[in-house]
Amino acid sequence: MTLEPVDLYSAARHAQAKLVLESVSKQFGAGDQAVQALSPVNVVLCPGDFVCIVGPSGCGKSTLLNLVAGFEQPSSGRLLLDKREIVGPGSERGVVFQQGALFNWMTVLENVAFGPRSRGIDRPRERAMHYLELVGLAGFAQRYPYELSGGMQQRVGIARALVNEPEMLLMDEPFAALDQQNRELLQEEIKDIWRRTGKTVLWITHSIEESLFLATHVLVMTARPGAIKAAFQAGFSRSEDPFVSTTTAFSEAKRQILGLLREESLAARSQEVAS
Ligand code: ADP
Ligand code: MG
Repeated sequence: MTLEPVDLYSAARHAQAKLVLESVSKQFGAGDQAVQALSPVNVVLCPGDFVCIVGPSGCGKSTLLNLVAGFEQPSSGRLLLDKREIVGPGSERGVVFQQGALFNWMTVLENVAFGPRSRGIDRPRERAMHYLELVGLAGFAQRYPYELSGGMQQRVGIARALVNEPEMLLMDEPFAALDQQNRELLQEEIKDIWRRTGKTVLWITHSIEESLFLATHVLVMTARPGAIKAAFQAGFSRSEDPFVSTTTAFSEAKRQILGLLREESLAARSQEVAS
């Protein structure tokens, strides 16, 4: 059994869309210096989707996420969130980066309370504490980020995104810097939070296994300029079967994606040789 291809831009998905990327492309710079980072991308995310994007490094994954976050503007096409065009960042989209991005001069609690406090939300510290409990860090509220391990810092980053109660979580290789064990524990926690809250998640990873553990849909990108090479329905769950990664279905799915990515890496290499 292999993964089922899926059309992420179907009429049925449009009918219940949370996020629409309509012919979205991105070019950096101009003239001789121009870098085409993203080819036109068409994709619809529905409420509750957990979409993982895998692709060769430098193919435009972060660019795509930054467009959804509103940190960058598209060169062509448009992005719609709940039918409204994205023109900048917003608290309904929570972003978690690969690492860091915490304020080192603030306690963990103040880091998490920062968002709600600056938006004038009631009782920011109580809210922050609630989300620190959720990610298992209540006991570290008064510590400073540099006193925590990498895994704990990523948890703070997640709490800081969740405290704004965003409808969408945008994660750019959030666990790339973690060791395998920490990574797997945090994957489980995130999946649990997703199950309980029904948030829509866009998750970038270079780990095929991670994408298969987490995603409802896996999206494979081509080499730069990034386009969608393939999209699949996925549904492996480690909470249902802790050893799911040892099943034939899982290793076949992994092989399938690996094959696609390998084609892209080879294509990227021959481009380099040619230029
Ligand atoms: P990925 O996250 O898939 O590794 P990125 O989206 O970061 O890739 O980058 C895609 C391409 O766009 C790369 O060639 C990168 O060098 C280029 N790029 C990204 N951001 C900028 C920028 N601000 N200015 C110029 N080029 C950029
Ligand atoms: Mg990146």
